[in-house]
Amino acid sequence: MTETQALPEAIETECVVIGAGPSGLFAVFELGLLGMKCHVVDSLQHPGGQCAELYPDKPIYDIPALPVCGAQELVDRLMEQIRPFAAGFHLGQEVTGLVRRDDGHFELTTAKGTRFSAGAVIIAAGLGSFQPRRLSVEGAEALEGRQVHYRVARAEQYRGKDLLIGGGGDSALDWVLEFAGKARSVTLVHRREEFRAQPASVARMKELVAAGHVRHLSGQVGALRIVGGVLTGATVNCLDGSAVEVDCDHVFAFFGLHPKLGPIADWGLELEKKALKVDTEKFQTSVPGIFAVGDINTYPGKKKLILSGFHEAALAAFGVQAYVYPGKRQFLQYTTTSPIMQQRLGVSGTGG
Ligand SMILES: Cc1cc2nc3c(=O)[nH]c(=O)nc-3n(C[C@H](O)[C@H](O)[C@H](O)COP(=O)(O)OP(=O)(O)OC[C@H]3O[C@@H](n4cnc5c(N)ncnc54)[C@H](O)[C@@H]3O)c2cc1C
Repeated sequence: MTETQALPEAIETECVVIGAGPSGLFAVFELGLLGMKCHVVDSLQHPGGQCAELYPDKPIYDIPALPVCGAQELVDRLMEQIRPFAAGFHLGQEVTGLVRRDDGHFELTTAKGTRFSAGAVIIAAGLGSFQPRRLSVEGAEALEGRQVHYRVARAEQYRGKDLLIGGGGDSALDWVLEFAGKARSVTLVHRREEFRAQPASVARMKELVAAGHVRHLSGQVGALRIVGGVLTGATVNCLDGSAVEVDCDHVFAFFGLHPKLGPIADWGLELEKKALKVDTEKFQTSVPGIFAVGDINTYPGKKKLILSGFHEAALAAFGVQAYVYPGKRQFLQYTTTSPIMQQRLGVSGTGG
């Protein structure tokens, strides 16, 4: 950035919630009930954390009052529940910077350059932010972003190129189908015979292979051919023991995502075994005004369960309120009987 370019203006808010997993989403609800506005940031492109990313189709049996609830269904229900509070969502961006100012406010920055000035922060970062599993062959790291990719930005630039796409899930298959006929060649490499992607996508891919528009190899990329710093091809070690040379300009690896603690470890917060130490009164970290709920925190007796995150979010919201409005008296109100809460929920007058 040059000196003349101004930084984007910071979004002012009472609270930033880092992480849109179940704990972060419920924190939005509890803050909203107390009349506080917030913004939510998540490195994933969608809300739901582990539920949405790791096991969306699995049934959950230990959510109170819901004998069985699909993991994605739980996320959808939480999103519906927080809708009245109109939180700002900033998805697909990792919070990289968190600094406490001398006046007790917080400055946050994301990898995409979004900035926040917040009265308080709730970290609901689970096991960390989800990162792509990387191609572990020599030379891949140096080519990342140029010829080795973990996501597709501006698909148009790959028209007429030789592409190697690795993976067996929906991302890999979707891009194979997208690039077939547009790229000069598309080679799909998957380490198993079976695919995790939608059956319809797999069937379409097999049609394209049969028609000679896509090449499919069962195996793994064993080496990259790099000439003068430029990727020119790759060696695929096939399941049948053969090694196949594939000419390619770009390698895309869609091997799924895994959570990594990431920048949170650098924010000066007290950690214990990669988790943030909190009190159990308001789930505040070692820095006043920064709270941590859900899988990211630790305290004596901590259990990494969704319902623990819900309880912690409720108490952290009261903690945020006390921090942001120190003089304000706090009341425990019931949603069944509190007119102000019902007004915030947009259900005024329906309670009888
Ligand atoms: C297969 C499986 C089955 C499970 N079954 C159950 C069950 O039956 N019952 C149960 O109670 N629990 C279950 N769990 C555990 C449950 O999913 C977790 O306890 C729950 O997801 C924790 O929610 P969370 O909101 O704290 O964190 P997460 O769900 O991990 O969400 C955290 C979010 O924070 C984001 N994030 C992290 N760092 C940053 C950053 N720096 N910037 C931006 N975003 C960031 C991440 O991308 C992520 O989306 C299961 C877990 C797995 C893996």
